[in-house]
Amino acid sequence: MPESRAHVIELNPNNKQRTYFARACGCARKAYNWGVDEWPRLYALHKADPSNHPKPDEMLLRRLFNAIKRKQFPYMLEVTKCAPQQALRNLGRAYTNHWRDPKRFQLPKHKKKYCDDSFYISNDQFEVKGSRIRIPKLGWVRMRESLRFDPAKILSATIVRSTDRWFVSLSCELSEIQHAKPADNQGSVGVDLGVSELAVCSNGYRIEGPKAYAANVKKLKRLQRGLSRQKKGSKRRARRRLELAKVHYRIACLRKESLHQLTHYLTSHFHTIGIEDLNVGGLLKNHRLAMRIADMGFYEFRRQLAYKSQARGGELVVVDRYFPSSRLCRECGQKNEGLKLSDRQWRCPHCGAFIADRDLNAALNIRDIAASYAGADPTNSSSGRMQALARESEGLRVKPRSVNRKENVKSSLIRFE
Ligand SMILES: [Zn+2]
Repeated sequence: MPESRAHVIELNPNNKQRTYFARACGCARKAYNWGVDEWPRLYALHKADPSNHPKPDEMLLRRLFNAIKRKQFPYMLEVTKCAPQQALRNLGRAYTNHWRDPKRFQLPKHKKKYCDDSFYISNDQFEVKGSRIRIPKLGWVRMRESLRFDPAKILSATIVRSTDRWFVSLSCELSEIQHAKPADNQGSVGVDLGVSELAVCSNGYRIEGPKAYAANVKKLKRLQRGLSRQKKGSKRRARRRLELAKVHYRIACLRKESLHQLTHYLTSHFHTIGIEDLNVGGLLKNHRLAMRIADMGFYEFRRQLAYKSQARGGELVVVDRYFPSSRLCRECGQKNEGLKLSDRQWRCPHCGAFIADRDLNAALNIRDIAASYAGADPTNSSSGRMQALARESEGLRVKPRSVNRKENVKSSLIRFE
């Protein structure tokens, strides 16, 4: 199966091009919001008289929109036709998602200016040559760099505004997986994602998180207050909004950077990487922890590890969230039931061993179980996990520390579910 990758490149537009981009984003937003209003109306008509009014769907909306575009929105003809079309496609997807899972996906709402300003161009409408991209009804726009890889096919381009900068995300299909150099050390590592630190690795390597959000949160609050005091539509308000957007952007960049450094370190040094499947939703309910976990970006961490280790021929093992990594004693393998989150150090109630570092203890436990999974069936289902754990408890792949420990692993899985 061909692999697809996206490359995000900053654009170097001139003023005329900036205006075009803003206008295209406006058209995409306008079409989307038009659809948000139109859909319930069409649905009400369909309910009242099903024989004359078809049930609204994405296709119908696009047809209706194209019929009125020339008359009602003549300015849309000045930008790429993909912008409003794709906006309606996205709206269709948003409705489908909502009906499938209303708890997770809210009913589509109106889009606001400056939030997620973007528009889409399909691959027959643009051309990339070196560090330039040709956009319909506009011409060539300079990019800050050329494409990083040599794609078999460019699938699409999405142009996005971030603060006062413009980026293009080029989605490419690669002819074959582009392999990177395999990891230096072919061993395994366990990673415990922490609250006070970004990560503690089983080899003792610790990485402080960027604490980007915490450091900038004061600044954010001040700017937010300032923004709400300004009159709507005023120049000062626009300036404040940009200032605020820049702080958000800086935080996002810092976070991304530190995650990339960590995932690069792990994938370039170890073949097998064990991480815990963090129940982020559950953690976010705990308000005191919420901000820091959100700051660390767990899903992004996991995504980066997955694609980077795949490129190096390594293996990422995600350990079941019910595995009591922090509570197992390294010495005797028994579980400390009374361990609290605030206990940074603890003494084992069973064998009396002193665990001087809670996070390192957890990382070592994760490493051991990841090493025992490695090479097992690459299945993510919980039955697969159960099998892998059961296999470990039979002592096939891992040298058990003690009989008690083996039982612990298995029983904990049942008890915690
Ligand atoms: Zn113990």
